[in-house]
Amino acid sequence: MKSTMQDGPLLIKGIISHGEWLYANKKVFTVTPDGVQEATFYEISRRAERLAAALAGLGVKSGDRVGSFMWNNQAHMEAYLAVPSMGAVLHTLNIRLFPEQLAYVINHGEDSVIIVDNTLIPLLAKIRDQIPTVRHIIVNGPDTTGALGETLDYETLLGAERPGFEWPELDEREAAIMCYTSGTTGNPKGVVYSHRSLWLHSIAQMSANSIGICESDRGLLIVPMFHVNAWGTPYTSFFSGAELIMPQMFLQGGPIIKMIRELRPTISLGVPTIWNDVLHAAESDPEADFSSLRYIVAGGAAVPRHMIEAFRDRHGLRLVQGWGMTETSPLGAVAIPPAGTPREQEIDYEVKAGRVVAGVEVRVVDDTGEVMPRDGKAIGEFEIRGPWIAGAYYGVDAPERFHDGWLKTGDIGTLDAEGFMVISDRSKDVIKSGGEWISSVELESRVMAHPAVFEAAVIAVPDERWDERPLCCVVLRPDATASAEELHDFLAPQVPKWWLPEHWTFLESIPKTSVGKFDKKVLRAQFALGEFSVTTLS
Ligand code: AMP
Repeated sequence: MKSTMQDGPLLIKGIISHGEWLYANKKVFTVTPDGVQEATFYEISRRAERLAAALAGLGVKSGDRVGSFMWNNQAHMEAYLAVPSMGAVLHTLNIRLFPEQLAYVINHGEDSVIIVDNTLIPLLAKIRDQIPTVRHIIVNGPDTTGALGETLDYETLLGAERPGFEWPELDEREAAIMCYTSGTTGNPKGVVYSHRSLWLHSIAQMSANSIGICESDRGLLIVPMFHVNAWGTPYTSFFSGAELIMPQMFLQGGPIIKMIRELRPTISLGVPTIWNDVLHAAESDPEADFSSLRYIVAGGAAVPRHMIEAFRDRHGLRLVQGWGMTETSPLGAVAIPPAGTPREQEIDYEVKAGRVVAGVEVRVVDDTGEVMPRDGKAIGEFEIRGPWIAGAYYGVDAPERFHDGWLKTGDIGTLDAEGFMVISDRSKDVIKSGGEWISSVELESRVMAHPAVFEAAVIAVPDERWDERPLCCVVLRPDATASAEELHDFLAPQVPKWWLPEHWTFLESIPKTSVGKFDKKVLRAQFALGEFSVTTLS
């Protein structure tokens, strides 16, 4: 029997019209070297229409890819709205990719136009002669360098157009945005989000069971707009009426603390390494003031327990952990303790990767693909499916990443009866010692709780007897000292004896991936090249 409900496509243009209709005077704030630039949702909608008209004038047609090589800022928001709504595809380019990877993703995506922030021109200029599909480059801000050859000026283009571009009717399953995985192994792979998937994801982000973004929020968007669409927040902002603060390149602890104090966000989203910086910077900043924040969101990597405790105990601030991937749009799980959890036990849930959000399904499977019990004990690989989960990669076959209609996440861990996921490792990062798994994530989290430690990453190193053993790479805080023995003894009462790393090395910094996570592939390579001075405890 057919339902009697109306039907209609779930499109980004619906998000724009809702945002500008209900929340016309809400603002997007962009932090610039000369102060804060403000624009209302109404102004941004009109400018998005002018941008679409300008792109159409440059020959951008339905399905064409328009790259953005930009910080988080107002113009990037305009591209987020305009490009998909005109029927083209926004390809968000990661500004931290190595030149050859950047050229690879632009060529693979066959971008026809790129919008670039003027401060990023030198990075794009390195590969300008290797990206033949790119017909036009539009520069946001004055181009005084000429390094990219002939370019078009963003404001001049918009100024030459009138608002009122008619958004076409589209199929909700058409491509809206594409984003490549950060590709720490092999070439990055493209994930293509549809209007429908982004629309549904946005609704999910507003749910109080997930991040719960709402009209009274002002979000400080630290996670880059090239990292899984800034976790979907630009669209959720327009859809919910939440204002946005765009930090551009001011992403260090000090400037973030200043932004929080002066622009008073109610929520903020970023990877744990950023929050670690903020936490440490706050120690020497008597004016740090987090009172405007309802909570902060951290995802993209495991959040150490001590970080959650430090924000809670020192600043009265809740840190909400989420789990997701480029392939999952990214919202998969959010670590909100179940109703009725006694306050002192909340932390035990908050340290987990998250509780599966409504709209997606998650399961754990063993090596043979057999589904394992949801008992919080059986360890295997997470698989996920749902309407905002990738079912394929763009233009490459990767059958090993899919299983009976589920995406294989490559994350290893457990799922419990209440739907909480615990990630013990990426499959490529697991440490297999004597046939048993040691969780590098758990070891890192605990070592980082030591007062002398700024960062710690644990990798597997070959071992004749046990196959692999953990090597703990430690960055000490400035002016702090701690020996390998001391850290080992600190860890000893906290983890099984056979987990305890006997190998330790002290580094100036942990290498980071292009989206700010610990880059263990680089650490493993540096170790293999003999670049570390390793202390081995007996
Ligand atoms: P990306 O596609 O760059 O966002 O990376 C996705 C990967 O980040 C996931 O597959 C996980 O390995 C990792 N990740 C994301 N969130 C968490 C979390 N809360 N805890 C542990 N790992 C996480």
